[in-house]
Amino acid sequence: MKKDCIFCKIANGEISSATLYEDDEFRVILDMGPASRGHALILPKEHYSDLCQLDEAVAARVLPLAKKLGTAMTKALNCDGFNLVQNNGEAAGQTVLHFHMHIIPRYAGGPKIVAWEPGKTSDEERAQIVEAVRAEL
Ligand code: AMP
Ligand code: ZN
Repeated sequence: MKKDCIFCKIANGEISSATLYEDDEFRVILDMGPASRGHALILPKEHYSDLCQLDEAVAARVLPLAKKLGTAMTKALNCDGFNLVQNNGEAAGQTVLHFHMHIIPRYAGGPKIVAWEPGKTSDEERAQIVEAVRAEL
């Protein structure tokens, strides 16, 4: 646990939360500032600041857990879909620097939550990006 990390305290039960699911490694809670009804957060109990720091074995459990919760929430809340959102870094909108994945139920006719205007690119730019990223893999 990291001192002064709110999600460490919530995940480990030091601060109470509306818990949808808990096991040895994770707690899934309802978000306090929900984007939609049922907005939930998957929190590992260990502290990792973001996806780049996340242990691979823990990472491997996140998507099955999102599937389990998303499936249950779809049935329980009658949502018409859901978004998985996972922000890394303040520039990406991460405000709590303890890895978490959002599960955001979506309801037909509801507001746009995760959306962007398609931008423009070129063959040259894509080639540069491919070369730069592949060199770091
Ligand atoms: P992010 O912007 O990806 O870092 O998301 C942080 C999320 O944590 C936001 O959706 C907040 O509403 C939520 N949040 C912050 N503090 C708490 C808390 N004490 N309990 C539940 N959710 C929280
Ligand atoms: Zn933490």
